[in-house]
Amino acid sequence: MSKPKIWLSSPHMGEAEQTYVQEAFDTNWIAPLGPHVNGFEDDLQKYTGVSHAAALSAGTAAIHLALILLDVGPGDFVICQSMTFSASANPIVYQGATPVFIDSEPDTWNMCPEYLEKALAELASQGKSVKAIIPVHLYGMPANMSRIMAIAEHYGVAVVEDAAEALGSRYYHMPCGAFGKFGVLSFNGNKIITTSGGGALLSNDGEMIQKARFLATQARDNAPHYQHTHIGYNYRMSNVVAAIGRGQMEVLDDRVAARRENFGRYKDYFDMVNDRGYRVTIQPEPRGCYSNRWLTALTIDPKANKGISRETVRLALEADNIESRPLWKPMHMQPVFSDAPYYGDSVAANLFKDGLCLPSGSNLTGEDFDRIFKVLDRVFI
Ligand SMILES: *Cc1c(COP(=O)(O)O)cnc(C)c1O
Repeated sequence: MSKPKIWLSSPHMGEAEQTYVQEAFDTNWIAPLGPHVNGFEDDLQKYTGVSHAAALSAGTAAIHLALILLDVGPGDFVICQSMTFSASANPIVYQGATPVFIDSEPDTWNMCPEYLEKALAELASQGKSVKAIIPVHLYGMPANMSRIMAIAEHYGVAVVEDAAEALGSRYYHMPCGAFGKFGVLSFNGNKIITTSGGGALLSNDGEMIQKARFLATQARDNAPHYQHTHIGYNYRMSNVVAAIGRGQMEVLDDRVAARRENFGRYKDYFDMVNDRGYRVTIQPEPRGCYSNRWLTALTIDPKANKGISRETVRLALEADNIESRPLWKPMHMQPVFSDAPYYGDSVAANLFKDGLCLPSGSNLTGEDFDRIFKVLDRVFI
């Protein structure tokens, strides 16, 4: 019989979730609105310090609505970090606009401010209309928001901050998701907290969030019959799902602490491995950054590691029924985006070549780590 699976990042429920869900059943609020939706939005506002939040069916829906509210359409350009999950970029195409991808910087692995500036200068000189910039906080590590916000302001372009992986992370004490005109959160199954599926759009512009709620509920005008002057979407979060979210918010800080502790264990382990003559590099946490360490990510350059590659490690873990995963494949290298402009060098490409995410769930046990380190000990002898 094979050993039980150790997942990359699996859901971790607290104690209150079922009580809140039961409450939704008891009061028959089984609908895409209700008191838990309002309560969850309040929780998110309090936690992030952003004054308005709309709970939605997915993080992807939040990005899509942000682009709609910024009036992104055919002929427009939207700048997006290349090193990310495809959901950051897909909504640009839903709107018929052109994505422009930007390389990562080595410090944070996120959007490189230099290439961002180069892209904006060049697109401006060509008279192109750039409607938004989408930086991402990969694996919970904050992007260089002070530089990115300054550049965005200089060019008068709105920032849609993809904080889907970074709830609980901070940049110079400001919560991730609170920097941009819009912030985006995700509560998908493997994120730091989960509602099974879901997302949220954050903004200090209350009117915009009102509009987001309107568009997310099929854009029904105020009339007794069904009347529409806009195209609508079915993007709202259900009251049952929001009930799970309310319970999860109560344990969010514990989940961040547990993930950071996981990171600490890996860090100590690879310090020891590197003392044996290897050079495994863990994702750095530059000055001012406080990562929720959603996933512990590292790079293994085979040339500096006696021929051991991230695939050596991944396959060894897999043979023991332990899940690990290469870093996101950059969007400018994806077949579906092969025509999109790209500004950058090979930082993101190299991260993809050598990068690996290790099991990072907040529910990993000491025995799980014993198994993981036993496999790694056989690789890094
Ligand atoms: C998960 C994720 C999303 C999308 O969120 P969903 O809730 O799955 O739609 C967007 N961007 C990044 C970087 C993500 O990791």
